[in-house]
Amino acid sequence: MAFLFNSDAKRGAIFAEAFARELPDIPVSLDPATVDPEAVRYLITWTVPENLARYRNLEILFSIGAGVDQFRIDAVPAHVKVVRMVEDGIVRMMQEYVILAVLALHRNLPAYLNQQRLRSWQAIAPVQASERRIGVLGLGMLGTSVLERLKPFGFPLSGWSRSPREIGGVRCLSGRDGLDTLLRATDILVCLLPLTDETRGLLSAKLFAQLPAGAALVHVGRGPQLDHQALLEALDNGHLTGAVIDVTDPEPLPADHPFWIHSKILLTPHIASVTQPATAAAAVIENIKRFRAGLDPVGLVDRHRGY
Ligand code: NAP
Repeated sequence: MAFLFNSDAKRGAIFAEAFARELPDIPVSLDPATVDPEAVRYLITWTVPENLARYRNLEILFSIGAGVDQFRIDAVPAHVKVVRMVEDGIVRMMQEYVILAVLALHRNLPAYLNQQRLRSWQAIAPVQASERRIGVLGLGMLGTSVLERLKPFGFPLSGWSRSPREIGGVRCLSGRDGLDTLLRATDILVCLLPLTDETRGLLSAKLFAQLPAGAALVHVGRGPQLDHQALLEALDNGHLTGAVIDVTDPEPLPADHPFWIHSKILLTPHIASVTQPATAAAAVIENIKRFRAGLDPVGLVDRHRGY
């Protein structure tokens, strides 16, 4: 029996150490070339390897990231469980990033950065937090954790999911009508949705037009959810006032892409949240223990929903 770590060796060494301590009967291999493929019961990777079929006894395919949109799930045999990464490090970093982004937009940071470059000393009329409505698309592990961190600031909070949810202090909406209701009453929209057929291209001209004039966007879901041209038009015609963008399509952005130099866009290179090896190893070990005890792993992907 073996656990194959199909990613960089430095992070793999942290997994190997944790397994030696917590699950000593499962040797960790860091090298697909030397592992006995028949021994591999568990595999962690960013993308599904071309030769997945050689791991005939595979039981769980773990994603190294919080999403599985980079997996070709159809290529994974039906009996293999697909599990996304659910670990404290990802959650903490996403909370930090979204708080940073929401406060930057709330306090007009893109405009002040431009004013600084122009040596212009001018106050912009402040809006109080109680008047700045935040809407979060996606009420999963990350959306709900981010909303918890936003609560102390006093922003009116709403959230949107596929199935109905209840979160204290948050107006929870679901379904198409729910989205329309949320958009009409959102000043800062945060996208924390997984990439699926339903969410691809969701951040479109039509969606931006539903937001009130002066609204802003934080995009930390996945690049293909955003229509770049529609965002540029909404920013340039003044309907939207700013955007913090962490994910794009393609990644990295080409050097001549307008996002790099747009005065209303703060751009980061998909770093909002990164899997932390020590906490990720602990989460994977816990999941293998659950699986061995006959329980479903935490973060088990529903193949039908696609997330
Ligand atoms: P999750 O726990 O699976 O939650 C997904 C949420 O989105 C759920 O609330 C789900 O609704 C909702 N949803 C999915 N499809 C929907 C649809 N068609 N309409 C309405 N709501 C829909 O995922 P998570 O762990 O919070 O992560 C969310 C995403 O964040 C990831 O998939 C990834 O794309 C992104 N991410 C980005 C970074 C970064 O660095 N930028 C890092 C990590 C993750 P239900 O509650 O009804 O299921």
